[in-house]
Amino acid sequence: MPLASYRMYIDGEWCHATSGATFDVRSPVTGERLATLPEAGREDVRRAVDAARAAQRTVARLSIKERAEIAYRVAEAIRPHLDAWALDLTLEQGKPIREARTEVAETIPNLLWSAEDLKRIETPTLEGYSKPETTYLLRREPLGVVGVITPWNYPWLIPAEFVVQALICGNAVVFKPASTTPISAVHFVEAIEKAGVPRGAMNLITGPGSTAGRELVENRSVDGLCFTGETSTGEEIAHRAGLKKIGLELGGAGPLIVLDDADLSKAARDIAFGCFNNAGQVCCANGRILVDERVHDRLATKVAEEARRWRLGDPREESTDLGPMNNEPTIEKVERHVADGVRQGATVVVGGHRAIDRPTRQYYPATLVDGVTTDMLLGNSETFGPVAPLLTFRTLDEAVEVANLPRYGLSMAVHTANLQRAFRLARDLKAGQVVVNDPVLYWDYNHPWGGFGRSGLGRVAGRWTIESFTEIKTMILNIGESPGPGSSENVP
Ligand code: NAP
Repeated sequence: MPLASYRMYIDGEWCHATSGATFDVRSPVTGERLATLPEAGREDVRRAVDAARAAQRTVARLSIKERAEIAYRVAEAIRPHLDAWALDLTLEQGKPIREARTEVAETIPNLLWSAEDLKRIETPTLEGYSKPETTYLLRREPLGVVGVITPWNYPWLIPAEFVVQALICGNAVVFKPASTTPISAVHFVEAIEKAGVPRGAMNLITGPGSTAGRELVENRSVDGLCFTGETSTGEEIAHRAGLKKIGLELGGAGPLIVLDDADLSKAARDIAFGCFNNAGQVCCANGRILVDERVHDRLATKVAEEARRWRLGDPREESTDLGPMNNEPTIEKVERHVADGVRQGATVVVGGHRAIDRPTRQYYPATLVDGVTTDMLLGNSETFGPVAPLLTFRTLDEAVEVANLPRYGLSMAVHTANLQRAFRLARDLKAGQVVVNDPVLYWDYNHPWGGFGRSGLGRVAGRWTIESFTEIKTMILNIGESPGPGSSENVP
């Protein structure tokens, strides 16, 4: 396969890094070098931020109609390339081609949905509480320059939830994708360029998080920052960002809780889907399976059957369910967690080791580990791989305690036939969403998305994305007298 060469996009130009430095993207599927890209230094990021700063007012002054039409045109610019860009996604990320096609295609309705949300955003008009002759007119205004930093597990879907949305809210954007999946980001920005945006309003920088990402986080001309990635990186970013408006979409260890009255066959299918889809590299994967000990044996048998059906293979083939994992540190983490569980007494029932007959060492099969406890890494943290760790509980209170223990609170799920018990658990589980009778892996365009505790700050999706990329301003309109000398009215 010929080595492709891509550039960054700064101030309306495709460009190399000022230093001339580059880095390679290697395919987890074949091991081949796919592309070379510029390795941005801090000076490149500053140039992108300056360009964004200069362009921001122009974007903000576009009408809502003009801004919504940008989103429509980006969606149209993606459509002709769906198959080619899905294949590039599979090659750089490793996910099966069927999942890649869905991911790229899903960006289109997502962008169109956001444009509709922008068009329908409403702000109230209030009557003055203590001064009847005063009216408060509320407006939503852009933040200014917004940095968007994204991970490698959904290189299309996650940027497509933020980048264009920030732009159509009137912000200028500097986008830094993950270094193992920048090719998808380049294609996305090609579509944005084709849609036509004011020069400097959209910028793409490629390069390491530790330098390029860090400059974006620390740069004082950046007003808003939207980060998706690991909890530890998010904590560091929160520490360094200063007084920017930050949104953090972080890790999860979402438990799927199976009660003794659940439909066990459905639960087993949902467990397999939420554990093995995208090779388990999903923030809202079924990170842990908590099962009532009375139905443990029956459920374990069914999950093992399901796990054996997930075919590991070349992700370019339509019949493949599980491709390679994206990168070596992530597969090493999976190995470390499984080994830790086994050392402490857990049992590998299905899978449990790297495949040795593949073009790279990053293929890991669907795995079921039984007898997991909260002392084990599999039972108390985010594994981020195709592993279903089975833990048991005796009472609902115990299930809630174990579920909430790691203080990750992104998505959790409950399987039960009893509505009362579902409501009780939904009340007690500390998570941004609680799913009843579906996998933890659940996302839609129009409900708020985001975590409690270590899973992040803020809410996005639907109108919440539009709200997170804007600030409220109040215009106070007085048609009466002004306060006279000595008046202390309404002075805080
Ligand atoms: P990561 O290592 O935290 O990296 C995420 C992004 O941040 C990458 O672009 C990375 O650049 C950059 N980065 C790294 N260090 C940085 C720093 N010090 N300053 C600024 N930027 C920095 O996460 P990941 O491994 O890519 O993604 C997996 C994690 O994301 C999992 O924990 C998963 O749960 C979480 N996630 C959460 C959601 C959600 O909606 N809550 C969605 C998807 C994923 P480089 O690639 O160059 O290092």
